[in-house]
Amino acid sequence: MDIAEEKEETMNTPDTMPIFDGHNDTLLQLSPIKRAGGRSLFERSKQGHLDLPRARTGGFGGGMFAICVPPNPDQPDVFVKETPATKTDVGIKLQPAVDHTYAQQFTLSAVGRMFRLVAESNGQVQVVRTVDELEHCLDQGILAVVLHFEGAEAIDPALDGLYAFYEAGLRSLGPVWSRPNAFGYGVPFKFPLSPDTGPGLTEAGRELIRACNRLGILVDLSHLNERGFWDVVRLSDAPLVATHSAAHALTPSARNLTDAQLDAIGESNGVVGVNFYVADLRADGRVEADTPLTEVVRHIDYISTRIGIDHVAFGSDFDGATIPQEIGDVTGLPRLVDALRAHGFDEQALRKITHENWLRALRLTWRQG
Ligand SMILES: [Zn+2]
Repeated sequence: MDIAEEKEETMNTPDTMPIFDGHNDTLLQLSPIKRAGGRSLFERSKQGHLDLPRARTGGFGGGMFAICVPPNPDQPDVFVKETPATKTDVGIKLQPAVDHTYAQQFTLSAVGRMFRLVAESNGQVQVVRTVDELEHCLDQGILAVVLHFEGAEAIDPALDGLYAFYEAGLRSLGPVWSRPNAFGYGVPFKFPLSPDTGPGLTEAGRELIRACNRLGILVDLSHLNERGFWDVVRLSDAPLVATHSAAHALTPSARNLTDAQLDAIGESNGVVGVNFYVADLRADGRVEADTPLTEVVRHIDYISTRIGIDHVAFGSDFDGATIPQEIGDVTGLPRLVDALRAHGFDEQALRKITHENWLRALRLTWRQG
């Protein structure tokens, strides 16, 4: 289907609005596996959560597309990212750190493959560097890719690589995934547990935050432990953002945000992208796909009630986590929007949740159109 037809179809559907989403791992799922006979970005698949045809069906206009370095260099196509976090887990164990040289090579290849996909997309996919470019894509039905690193292992502690990757389109960066690196410490996938699990940012981590502020790169607080979080609060002059997290008061997973953290994000004019990972949504912390999508609504309602409707959005973790089977994949987003509407969110609130809050935070952070 060509873009003009698709745009018309989208415009004529009254209860869809463009959705911009805080986090997916689709780049990791597609490119290496495609060579091994897996799915393509351009073909509708039943595997995984996101491809271009399904994005259009679901009204998914774009999002932060993450590159996270797989733990095992020998098995880059096998990346079980979110390990189970159940009550039966024992011990608090972070995954081991990864080597910087390996991480930089992996990331450079992944960024290159992303631009190859764009080149093969016949204008249907664009890497966006400004909010004006992002809005143009949402208006025109072009899939908008914001390049995000989930963990800064590819960047040397002296930060020269940050400037190179910025020029290559990097506009969003989580200092850590759920493991230690040169910049700080992540939280384990553990329930129930406080996010206060270790030391704060290193000196290199503090310099990284300052450099991101100077360049206009969004700093993502998801996966960072609580002391690191408060270090960023003290250092950063941009809105605070967690791209894919939920409310610790409802689901006391170490990956979720305490009320004090939520309050700080709200006071900074920031955004929480609510994660669809079932273990971070359910009161019992279990990894079960048979989880109602109203669990997402519950977290969005809690966060919007506590810190305001301007500070909550989606952070699906498509292609990176087990999500409620009622959502299923990106084509289930209209069902989630309908559930929010049925819960009482009006059209203005839904526009904020689906895209306007993300656009505001990005415009304030990127410091340009
Ligand atoms: Zn994640």
